[in-house]
Amino acid sequence: MPDPMASPLIRERGNGGNFGHPDVPVSDPWDPVIGILGTGDFSRSLARRLVASGYQVVVGSRTPKRSVALFPEDAEVTSQAEAAGQADVIFVAVFPEHHSTLVPLKPALAGKMLVDVSNGLCVNRDGPSNAAVLADLFPESIVVKGFNTISAWTLQTGPGDGSRRVFLCSDSQKAKSLVKQICCRMGFIPVDMGLLSSSLEIENLPLYLFPSWHIPVLCTLCLFVFFYLYNFFRDILQPYVTHGKSYFYKMPIETVNVTLPCVSLVMLALVYLPGLLAAFLQLRWGTKYSRFPGWLDRWLAARKQFGLCSFLCAALHAVYSLCLPMRKSARYKIVNMAYKQVKAGVAETWDDEEVWRMELYVSAGIMALGLLALLAVTSLPSVANTVNWREFTFVQSSLGYCALFMATVHTLIFGWDRAFNPSNYTLYLPPTFMLVLVLPILVLLGRLALLAPCVSGRLWLIRRGWERSRHIRFTLPGAANGAEDISNV
Ligand code: NAP
Repeated sequence: MPDPMASPLIRERGNGGNFGHPDVPVSDPWDPVIGILGTGDFSRSLARRLVASGYQVVVGSRTPKRSVALFPEDAEVTSQAEAAGQADVIFVAVFPEHHSTLVPLKPALAGKMLVDVSNGLCVNRDGPSNAAVLADLFPESIVVKGFNTISAWTLQTGPGDGSRRVFLCSDSQKAKSLVKQICCRMGFIPVDMGLLSSSLEIENLPLYLFPSWHIPVLCTLCLFVFFYLYNFFRDILQPYVTHGKSYFYKMPIETVNVTLPCVSLVMLALVYLPGLLAAFLQLRWGTKYSRFPGWLDRWLAARKQFGLCSFLCAALHAVYSLCLPMRKSARYKIVNMAYKQVKAGVAETWDDEEVWRMELYVSAGIMALGLLALLAVTSLPSVANTVNWREFTFVQSSLGYCALFMATVHTLIFGWDRAFNPSNYTLYLPPTFMLVLVLPILVLLGRLALLAPCVSGRLWLIRRGWERSRHIRFTLPGAANGAEDISNV
């Protein structure tokens, strides 16, 4: 018995004799005929998906004979003029610089829907968009912008393997609804972006390169370079210059491992610092309706990225720390130490204080890493969508501050009493852990200050719309007699 699954869903040209195959989608006579202008990568993938979704497809080419073999048998490949004449909805799958070569098709395209799938070469902030130019070229056609964020590869493999969202915009609601239907039938999720004026935004979408990550990544790199050089100077260069001791072997692992937690802790403090600054500004202004400065707005919006960079550094620090005893240098050190002790006749080297210090700071570090991992997981959109706003702020704010506290405790215990030992201030440079602790301690103290009842009460009122300079009638929760005047309290 023939295996029905072995037969292709779409008949390739030349396969022949497959008519009447039960799996081949049959187009509905009420369905629009879909035209595609252009026979490139995008056009071929789109044609396959449209045919698989049961649409009648007609492809318009400047050289139909040359391109015909590249398309499935169910798609008709013909001249541009004929395709434009037959189709109801036409996908313009040619590069925008060639849109003007389609002008002779104007009469055939009049009154029809043109779907502009084109992308630009670089981010265009000033406009006009390709879609707007196309609409100017074909004023009698209705232009819909869309599908430009979907790659030819995604179209070919199907929406399950790539992004499923298709951003659409048009000045005609009817045209947009029809393209939405086509979109859904192909397995994609249409996202209505409004009028054609949004086309510039849609065209720029695939061209952005992690726009919200620039500053957090730059900040991480700058902090890394600063702390690495500081540690290098203190722990490697200074002993070499003053005592001739060569510790350069520490550069790839030990120095990196001391640098990573510094960056992680400062970055974590930088996640919570803008929130504090915003709160103190609101308290100072006595209103929440004044705009924050632009840099603070951008910083507040990038907190997630700052947090993820902090998590990355903390995770790398954990891996580096686990690898420390595996190194040859560490093994030589232990053997040499043991040999020296045996030679000196030292029977036991147990140091209670050192043991406790290490147990405590490792434990605090593991706790901080666990909490940071929780914050990172909750920031994923798929997880964030499953929790409500209160749960999200509990994790990101309360547990986030717990992570900052544990990481600070980890560093404090690591430092122990070394801050009070003058020999640790080589060339008047404080140990790295002291530099690192400044910002997190300030942030934690700032947060404590905001928890004081008089401050938190005032902040709560401000965030509910109270303004120092205005007289507003307000209803306090639980107020027995309705509206109560609490302005200028
Ligand atoms: P392509 O492979 O170079 O195909 C472009 C097609 O345009 C050619 O095959 C040609 O077909 C046709 N064409 C019509 N007039 C032309 C002219 N005057 N000069 C040159 N070619 C002309 O490009 P593509 O990758 O399919 O991209 C087509 C459009 O889709 C672009 O606007 C692109 O931004 C957009 N897009 C592509 C992708 C992707 O993954 N490839 C993804 C999203 C959006 P005939 O010779 O048969 O006429």
